[in-house]
Amino acid sequence: MSTNKHLSNDAFDRVLCELGREYRLLGPRRFPGKGAHSGADVTGYGEIGSLSDLYLEGKTYFSPKECLFPVRETLFYFRDKDITPAAFDDRPTIIFLRPCDINGIKRLDTIFLHNGSEPDPYYARRRERVKFFLIECREGFDSCFCVSMDANRSDDYACACRFEGDGVRVEIKDGSFAPFFAGGEDAAAFLAFVTANKTSVQVPDLSRVDLGALFQHEIWQEYSSRCIACGRCNTSCVTCSCFTMQDVSYGRNQALGERRRVWAGCHIDGFTDMAGGHSFRAKNGDRMRFKTMHKINDFKRRFGFHMCVGCGRCDDVCPEYISFPTCIERLGRISREMTHE
Ligand code: SF4
Ligand code: SF4
Repeated sequence: MSTNKHLSNDAFDRVLCELGREYRLLGPRRFPGKGAHSGADVTGYGEIGSLSDLYLEGKTYFSPKECLFPVRETLFYFRDKDITPAAFDDRPTIIFLRPCDINGIKRLDTIFLHNGSEPDPYYARRRERVKFFLIECREGFDSCFCVSMDANRSDDYACACRFEGDGVRVEIKDGSFAPFFAGGEDAAAFLAFVTANKTSVQVPDLSRVDLGALFQHEIWQEYSSRCIACGRCNTSCVTCSCFTMQDVSYGRNQALGERRRVWAGCHIDGFTDMAGGHSFRAKNGDRMRFKTMHKINDFKRRFGFHMCVGCGRCDDVCPEYISFPTCIERLGRISREMTHE
């Protein structure tokens, strides 16, 4: 059974300090001067040490997926036929994150742990060490459409926090964390979730649509002229899980080096290049079609729920102002025209 506590900000900082002795603490934060423009900050996920490190005013540019699936990761080192697994930070980890992102990580779990005969060991070794501290999210932000995607709620958390400015309310669901919060005042249950977003979409059921005709529809040509294939929507998306492999040899000795995996994305040039020079989706609109269908149709047909969680980051970061909810709505209109509904 859960217990609820109220702590002052100072008391919460002391709890973070205690937790930090046993856990690696990750959460939304600013990275000063690391933005795309000179002197600009960027927001993403990284280590935090105190309440003031947490970025709570908005949505982060990058998602928490990099806590479990780093941008670039050395998997192992090779020397002739000898393989040595790469070390990783194996401390137990707490991630502070919002409900949509917990649901996003559920999608990553599906791909990395349940989409094949064996779980991905590099993802699994991090994932099994992680516990979630939910950041209560009652209003969302302008581009969020998590309610439409049924990703606004989650009960998959060890603790949940309401940051009130002058104090913090905490629901402790995982009893192993109760001693850390024992000094707080008992409080009433409080946790709430956003129930309506400013942006909403109705995801069309494409099961009766002629997918061949949809594949050829002119809508995708328009995206060919707008999308510049920068890949920002892929890298900021909590549910995009594609990667490429690189064997990096040390010096001239090809038998000595390391194997890395590095994020890749369906919008980025070269993603579908084959030996011999063929590329399956050379046009940027074809890539938009692939991403859209994967996020709101194909994944659900395989796993029973949509891949997209409606975090809205792809809208926030697109330099061409391409709106994913608008694309979904347009698909809905096309689907109604095709099925005469
Ligand atoms: S497709 Fe866009 S809205 Fe959906 S999960 Fe990815 S970034 Fe978020
Ligand atoms: S962020 Fe926008 S322009 Fe860049 S690849 Fe995605 S849809 Fe295309």
